[in-house]
Amino acid sequence: MNNFSIGVDLGGTNLRIAVVDEEGHLVEKVTLETKVSLGRDHVINDMCGAIQRLTEKYKNSAALLGIGVGVPGITDLQAGYLRDSPNLPGPDYPVRAEIERRLKTTVVLENDANAAALGEQWLGAAKNFPDMAMLTLGTGVGGALVLGGQIFHGMTGMAGEFGHTTIEPEGNPCGCGNRGCLEQYASATAVVRMAKEEIAGGQALALASAAQSGAEFNAELVYNLAIQGDEAARRVFRRVGRALGIALATLVNSLNLPMHVIGGGVSSAWDAFSPVIFEELRQRSMVYAATAPPDPLSAGQGVSASRSCRKTIVTRAQLGSDAGLYGAARLPMMARTNR
Ligand SMILES: [Zn+2]
Repeated sequence: MNNFSIGVDLGGTNLRIAVVDEEGHLVEKVTLETKVSLGRDHVINDMCGAIQRLTEKYKNSAALLGIGVGVPGITDLQAGYLRDSPNLPGPDYPVRAEIERRLKTTVVLENDANAAALGEQWLGAAKNFPDMAMLTLGTGVGGALVLGGQIFHGMTGMAGEFGHTTIEPEGNPCGCGNRGCLEQYASATAVVRMAKEEIAGGQALALASAAQSGAEFNAELVYNLAIQGDEAARRVFRRVGRALGIALATLVNSLNLPMHVIGGGVSSAWDAFSPVIFEELRQRSMVYAATAPPDPLSAGQGVSASRSCRKTIVTRAQLGSDAGLYGAARLPMMARTNR
């Protein structure tokens, strides 16, 4: 076995831990429940226990390069502090020092969206593209920039918050304090809200009966109606595509990057929203219009995704929910190269 590191994805529901070798092979993956309600110490204990078991198992066959942890919330990456992380609630917490103390190895902390982008850049849709941006459409909308193969953090680690780009100046209030953020139109939460708006408008019979059926009314249910051809459900995903197109137009005009990856749970509805992204991009970004691939919908797939084609590619992520896990494992490997 090659040298390996351990990647941790500290999600709100699952705590996932993986042994990944330097070649990017996932050797073993462990999934635990994130018991946030039992408190931060409990979550850290579970995490360290699982990491210790994995380290013991593999330490005789190869060298452990370190541990990378992807966490949601605002992190002070240099100091290794977490501020207001929803999955490790409580006051500012020196999570890196605490894990390093317990496990006696290098620990690298990263925002979860950045970790996912690094995973897709290393092994997924943006492989061979050192410059790329990623949007993760989950409960909220995360964003990340990778430049020259490295995560671009900005001055205080907050670069890439594309989810809070303004789409509608007087739009829906957002948790960040702004109105009409991308997150209000392209997250799973937004899909559900917009579907309820359709129901309230009285022109969405299939959505209304689904809402009354007792099944969980979630983004996946709205998507299933959309692919069955329900017009109201399709309108919801056209709004998702429009919002993404507007945000991406600004991003493409600003940075002229070759590769943009759309990931997160809502990206499973790619078929329902992506055509609108490309319509909006053509209208709103001269940089995109000048560099659009002949067939934008398939441009990111397989052999056609080539850096040398000098086209602006927007495509869906390839690693699914494992992107953040691979990216987190990549962190200590990169920390070594950069040292
Ligand atoms: Zn916002």
